[in-house]
Amino acid sequence: MDPLILYRKCSLCPRKCGVSRSKKNGKKQTGFCGEQDQIRVAHVGPHFGEEPPITGKRGSGMIFFTGCTLRCSFCQNHQISQGRLGREMELIELVESVFNMVTQYHVHNVNLVTPDHFLPHVFQLVSMMRKRGLDLPVVYNVSGYQSVDTLNLAENFADIYLPDYKYSDSSLAERLSQCPDYPKIALEAIVEMIRQKGVLDSCLSGSDLAKKGVLVRHLILPGNVKNSINALTSLFVEFGGGLPVSLMSQYYPVFDQNDETLNRSITTEEFIKVYTHAQELGFEWIFVQFPEKMHKHRRDISPFLPDFRQTEPFGR
Ligand code: SF4
Repeated sequence: MDPLILYRKCSLCPRKCGVSRSKKNGKKQTGFCGEQDQIRVAHVGPHFGEEPPITGKRGSGMIFFTGCTLRCSFCQNHQISQGRLGREMELIELVESVFNMVTQYHVHNVNLVTPDHFLPHVFQLVSMMRKRGLDLPVVYNVSGYQSVDTLNLAENFADIYLPDYKYSDSSLAERLSQCPDYPKIALEAIVEMIRQKGVLDSCLSGSDLAKKGVLVRHLILPGNVKNSINALTSLFVEFGGGLPVSLMSQYYPVFDQNDETLNRSITTEEFIKVYTHAQELGFEWIFVQFPEKMHKHRRDISPFLPDFRQTEPFGR
């Protein structure tokens, strides 16, 4: 099957917009993600802000796609998820760009950031990379809002999944990301990811670098400790303490939020409450970014707050 057919009557993500993102009657439609059937990319390059088994010494080879199926109101990458920053690329041009990055920087993996709405092209990209002998692990850096059907299609084109588990609270998910079904959908998606790849192999083997598996991330939102605590409890109940989790404290109010509590960074106390809960539950592998460290970064030089208008968005 030609994967590009999937752009017709699009149901690539749980939004199931049903629009034709390819030409139909001379017109292309746009769904919630804001994108049609032409890949658009904001940046290709190495990045050193992922968890240690993903970043390694030489960095993770990122591809940042334009558009997003979730479009959270607080998105730290809002310039590309909602601001439409990025440029159209032909697939062959993107493949060349990946090869240039690998040759120049010797990155440890190819890391696809929010690729969901371009998966038909991503499947072709991975096939072309592999045909040309590039066998680096392919990382899916995703929101957690994936459908099991689409994940089934991705199985042979993915090695590592880094899903978020953002919300345990449906009303928060509705307010901030317009998806009240997020808690249920994301848990089902993570079940499928674990079925396909197991947990992050580096945790089990003690290796410095991951080649396969799942690591679940959770961004702690200011004023929403309860959401974080319940999210961790849900993950523990579903998967047990053997699930690697990453607690992220880099939240920064990139623009004014309607929800007043989101107009600040998280406090050290908030972080400690969440971290302590993760430890008390009994998670064996907890990756952390301590907020004291995060707050030392000024807005313009933080490795976690990219500016995609720059040639080097992370200010290397
Ligand atoms: S990928 Fe985009 S168009 Fe397709 S279902 Fe999801 S949000 Fe809608």
